[in-house]
Amino acid sequence: MAVKRDYYEVLGVARQCSPEDLKRAFRKIAMDSHPDRNPDDAVASARFKEASEAYAVLSDPGRRRSYDMFGHATVEPGGGPGVDFSDMPFADIFDTFFGGGFSGRGRRERSNRGDDLRYDLTITFEEAFTGVEKQVDIARLATCDRCNGSGAEPGTGEDTCPGCRGSGQVRRQAQSIFGQVVTTATCPTCRGAGRLLQNPCQDCRGQGRLQKPKRLAVKIPAGVDTGAQIRISGEGESGLRGGQPGDLYVVLRVKAHPHLARHEQDMVYELRVNMVQAALGDRIQIPTLEGLVEIAIPGGTQNGQSFRLAGRGMPDVRGGRRGDQYVVVQIVIPKDLNPEQKALLRKVGGLTGRPEKVAKGFFEKLRDAISLD
Ligand SMILES: [Zn+2]
Ligand SMILES: [Zn+2]
Repeated sequence: MAVKRDYYEVLGVARQCSPEDLKRAFRKIAMDSHPDRNPDDAVASARFKEASEAYAVLSDPGRRRSYDMFGHATVEPGGGPGVDFSDMPFADIFDTFFGGGFSGRGRRERSNRGDDLRYDLTITFEEAFTGVEKQVDIARLATCDRCNGSGAEPGTGEDTCPGCRGSGQVRRQAQSIFGQVVTTATCPTCRGAGRLLQNPCQDCRGQGRLQKPKRLAVKIPAGVDTGAQIRISGEGESGLRGGQPGDLYVVLRVKAHPHLARHEQDMVYELRVNMVQAALGDRIQIPTLEGLVEIAIPGGTQNGQSFRLAGRGMPDVRGGRRGDQYVVVQIVIPKDLNPEQKALLRKVGGLTGRPEKVAKGFFEKLRDAISLD
């Protein structure tokens, strides 16, 4: 039998490290060397197996204590009450670290949990601004009425599974590079339930659930943006034979506003003015989320200058303060002047053959020559 490396050494942690340190160390090795990520790499695969065995032992407080006292001699790798990671696909390992509460028991319940559903919903910009309640029709697996979700034909029951004698798990012995390894796996006969139906329900064929459409009212808060998700707990698919239902995620897409661009909670409006309006100032009606509002552009406004309308932006989904609206001025230079207009412009000056300096008297001359129309 091959000499085993010390479990702490395998994970690269100190003997007195915390469970969090262990988890972090194992996660890093799993990320780097999981066989799903390193197909056909025997070295990575061996390293992963070694690390998962070490983690399975050290992550269980009881087994860690006996390993600390007696070393490899007393610790049965893979088996025992700990979770065996070495057979787990990479995605499940990932879930273990980032998903909610995980335990050997939780995993079995989880396999009966209904799937989460995604529903894509497009709303108008106005609806995002005010908030709205929407009816959505979802097709999903719902609890079967005939058997009440049990999957058993009414009047019949269940027998203990002969494959696993009710435990839902079977133990497998396998030869590995470390010698004999015992792993536990979900019982293939009952798929972990531990029981078998005597007589499956006729309507749902023993699944306990059926495809059924359902109409739901979804409350969308004011201020949402594209990509926002609303989770409706328990409105996903029903669980298998009485398992927990999944959740429904409504994923929002907000149509663009015809005149205003959105940046987080702020709205931006590009105001195009002609050079006379910019030079002399003007009062102009502009669109906002609440309709037209008149603003005053002061004389001497420059291209790209912006004005802020406080509190005219989108509401905060979490109830904070509203955003603002910015008005960015874009000065449009005329392209098709008639000879008379050209003559007038020449009169106010300009064709100097030099870069522009801010010359006193320029705007006064302009005002005399051209009047606003
Ligand atoms: Zn049924
Ligand atoms: Zn079984």
